[in-house]
Amino acid sequence: MRKSERAEIIRKELKKLYPSPPIPLDHTNAYTLLVAVVLSAQSTDKKVNELTKRLFKVADNPEKMIQLGINGIYEYIKFLGLSNQKSKNIFNLSKLLIEKHNGKVPNSFEKLESLPGVGHKTASVVMSQVFKIPSFPVDTHIHRLSQRWGLSNGDSVVQTEKDLKKIFPVNDWNTLHLQIIFYGREYCTARGCDGTKCYLCRTLYPKRKKKFICKKP
Ligand code: SF4
Repeated sequence: MRKSERAEIIRKELKKLYPSPPIPLDHTNAYTLLVAVVLSAQSTDKKVNELTKRLFKVADNPEKMIQLGINGIYEYIKFLGLSNQKSKNIFNLSKLLIEKHNGKVPNSFEKLESLPGVGHKTASVVMSQVFKIPSFPVDTHIHRLSQRWGLSNGDSVVQTEKDLKKIFPVNDWNTLHLQIIFYGREYCTARGCDGTKCYLCRTLYPKRKKKFICKKP
């Protein structure tokens, strides 16, 4: 089966399973989504949502966030991994937003990626979910599933993003990135599958018999 045929089967199946996937990180505006995505590095969305419920009640914009100070931010997020660094990044990025961007979240990859704690994946999530600019943020779920489904060879997340953008229609990128994440969480977790359980792998790789080993990002 050609890669484009596999992609089409995947696209249709995901559309059927998740016709309109919600954004998993709770937020009330562009700024709170940016902060939530920064917080989500190496943490679960569930944990982030629990903590931001309190944090965003007192600081849902950069001005209020810097009033908390680094230590104040830390108090709200201290149960997350990398909380020291994340507190500093959120404080510094909020300061920069005020100083350079009028307190607004910029809608450019370059400007977003120049903010502390904001890498390409975080910028892609914001561009996709806030500004609706077609993007394909690749997290570990997407990296893993792309290999299991033969859409990318798994050399790096950069390569996976390029491969997915080449194979899927641009207008589907924003939705597909969420659909693949939901599928990864629900069915195709990092452990516990030999690559033969689901309809998708059975259809894409009917002759697969043994465990498929994924490369790490
Ligand atoms: S068969 Fe396994 S690897 Fe394939 S989609 Fe299902 S859970 Fe993922």
